Amino acid sequence: MDFRLTPKQEALKKEIYSFCADLAKKKPSTYTGIEAKNDDDECWQFHLYCAREFGKKGWLTFGWPAEYGGKGDMMDKVIFSEAVGYYALPGVDEFGVAMLAPTLLAAANDEIKRKFLPGIASGETMWCELWSEPNAGSDLAALTTTAIRKGDEYIVNGQKTWNTGAHRADWAFGVYRTDPQAPKHKNLTFMLCDMKTPGITVKGIPYMDGSHIYNEVYLDDVHIPANQIVGKEGDGWAVVNVLAGFERSNMGLVYGLLSAIEHLAAYCNETKYNGVPLSNDPIVRNRLADLAIGLEAVRTLAIRIADQQSRNEMGLMDAAAVKVFASELMEKMAHVATDLLGPFGQVKFSKWAKLRGDFASTYMTCFVPIVSMGTNEIQRNIIAWYGLGLPRMK
Ligand SMILES: Cc1cc2nc3c(=O)[nH]c(=O)nc-3n(C[C@H](O)[C@H](O)[C@H](O)COP(=O)(O)OP(=O)(O)OC[C@H]3O[C@@H](n4cnc5c(N)ncnc54)[C@H](O)[C@@H]3O)c2cc1C
Repeated sequence: MDFRLTPKQEALKKEIYSFCADLAKKKPSTYTGIEAKNDDDECWQFHLYCAREFGKKGWLTFGWPAEYGGKGDMMDKVIFSEAVGYYALPGVDEFGVAMLAPTLLAAANDEIKRKFLPGIASGETMWCELWSEPNAGSDLAALTTTAIRKGDEYIVNGQKTWNTGAHRADWAFGVYRTDPQAPKHKNLTFMLCDMKTPGITVKGIPYMDGSHIYNEVYLDDVHIPANQIVGKEGDGWAVVNVLAGFERSNMGLVYGLLSAIEHLAAYCNETKYNGVPLSNDPIVRNRLADLAIGLEAVRTLAIRIADQQSRNEMGLMDAAAVKVFASELMEKMAHVATDLLGPFGQVKFSKWAKLRGDFASTYMTCFVPIVSMGTNEIQRNIIAWYGLGLPRMK
């Protein structure tokens, strides 16, 4: 494969990087990363502003078919995602743009696509994911929230948990048990729901730093119109698997590491220990080089996934492998950074904070992608079963 960009791609890259550099100058001082946008009102407004600016440019629809307003191809999407990550910008709704839109394109009927894709394309509508429940995480198909059909509606009752940004989102995609008698994996239906529907209560789960990012969502007699299901009734497990593939192969979080390593390398050049720059220490150099190699591998993986997605050939194992590799690289980066920064690495929003306190935030959030989207233990099972053909353990 030829990894060089074409002149057209080079021109697009220049335009996107310059646009993102200008947007980054408007970042609120309290903005500490993609997940944290859900906590602070000013950061959330900045997220909406960036989303709408990207929407006006048409950059949220790279790789979509032209009939649904698509622009460019999957390689353009890689260029855009890298730029957004490099400048650590919000504005790309991970649930709407990165997960739901490609799922709707693959699995929804034309009515649903025409109703819901425009809001994602313009950056106007924000989404959340209502899947996990207190007793259904790794074993998602064991979920018990029911959606029972009554005329032209489903009546939903139950509880979801760990729902990122549910207190901010306009709409939710969820999965519910529509036939309590049918066997596991054949009784689930994937539905779209307006978060303002009566009967929905959202309660925050305070994060370890006190921020409000995650939630529990209670559904009490929530009425969802029957024309808001994706796929067929009872086929929700298949739709869940399509979406999970896009969720796990989304590089949004890890692209933020592209600039993080530059900041860390600069810090090591400028900071002396016993009169010698940290960057002269062979152990420090070794650890930075290890991270840089991981990042190059991630960039190559991103191109491979984009290529597979453009041919509808992304397998379960490919998405699982990207998820494990990218999340563990993020964790490694957070650990290396906090080791190098010493006690300063634990401080943010203070004159003592180094590198804006970004790595204090990264350290506290780096385990999130390891657990969410299906834990890395589960992803390793998927790689073993579907990728390597190893037997399932009893
Ligand atoms: C910060 C955060 C954000 C999240 N955001 C969302 C969201 O927006 N929407 C949503 O629906 N969900 C969300 N989740 C839920 C997430 O998908 C689940 O937490 C995850 O799938 C694990 O499920 P669990 O927490 O029930 O753990 P369990 O399933 O109870 O697992 C506990 C431990 O056992 C291990 N384990 C379980 N089964 C196996 C097995 N078969 N083989 C090997 N090991 C196993 C797991 O790896 C884990 O270490 C989020 C979670 C977190 C922590």
